[in-house]
Amino acid sequence: MAEARIIDGKGFADRLRAHIAEQTAAVKRKHGITPGLAAVLVGDDPASAVYVRNKEKAVAEAGMASFPHRLPASAGEAELLDLVRRLNADRNVHGILVQLPLPKQIEADRIIDAVDPDKDVDGFHPVNVGRLVSGRAGLVPCTPLGCMMLLEDTLGDLARKHAVVVGRSNIVGKPMASLLLAANCTVTIAHSRTLDLIEVCRRADILVAAVGRAEMVRGEWIKPGATVIDVGINRVPGAEPGKTRLVGDVAFAEAKQVAGAITPVPGGVGPMTIACLLRNTLTAACRQNGVAAP
Ligand code: NAP
Repeated sequence: MAEARIIDGKGFADRLRAHIAEQTAAVKRKHGITPGLAAVLVGDDPASAVYVRNKEKAVAEAGMASFPHRLPASAGEAELLDLVRRLNADRNVHGILVQLPLPKQIEADRIIDAVDPDKDVDGFHPVNVGRLVSGRAGLVPCTPLGCMMLLEDTLGDLARKHAVVVGRSNIVGKPMASLLLAANCTVTIAHSRTLDLIEVCRRADILVAAVGRAEMVRGEWIKPGATVIDVGINRVPGAEPGKTRLVGDVAFAEAKQVAGAITPVPGGVGPMTIACLLRNTLTAACRQNGVAAP
């Protein structure tokens, strides 16, 4: 059997970002609206700092307004809630992103609940979760949204396919399953208590791995010809001492011998997450101003 087609998430994301930049320019020109994103970082976790910086850079490159907010690791819940309320009321801010995880003295759910659902570009607010599950227009979490774009680009119509999502987090697994169901897949959600996980995965036409365990999904778990979306980002020791490298939740070298198509790590799902954040910010800006999203 031929090797799997490698799904070029980086290339897709680059084209999507260029398209969003054109649409942003058109919205500015026609309606005088500059979509704006406020990214809030609490504390100095180095990985979170890199994520937020990359997001802010992408926002600026798309021609959107960026409103960076940094709070110290000692910030309390009341201070962060106060900032979120001010951003909710600011008409120049169309999207609000509070980078997770938050320091332990702050309860993340309280912050998520405080964000105006129409500015919730992460799609984590219970109102947006409800909208997604009930098939209404809302803001959809960026990573699963990006996975769906790659799947639809690869397979076209997803109806009748059996999709297996491994992982049931609120940010990836659950919204991913809802989106696949809305696209008329038959959906199985697997997790750490699933029996016969390998057999479950082997029945998948579409296999989405969002587990956070380096290369857990082996080649023999995959149905020949299946489409594999690897959401995992795991840092493991590299070939040289002291060096590290990134791998997904799927053993890529084995899986590509069996799958029909597969996303690589890095260069697959990761770049789509930022592109979808831009898309959500543009969508939010248009909706808040009663303008049709381009
Ligand atoms: P998470 O909140 O830790 O959830 C992991 C899920 O995997 C849980 O539902 C857990 O099951 C399940 N799981 C853990 N061990 C398992 C096992 N042995 N067998 C079956 N299921 C198992 O993680 P997450 O936030 O969804 O992220 C998942 C991965 O995606 C991570 O590597 C993360 O870095 C990556 N990620 C990437 C992006 C991107 O932009 N590409 C974005 C977000 C996350 P239980 O519920 O039973 O505990």
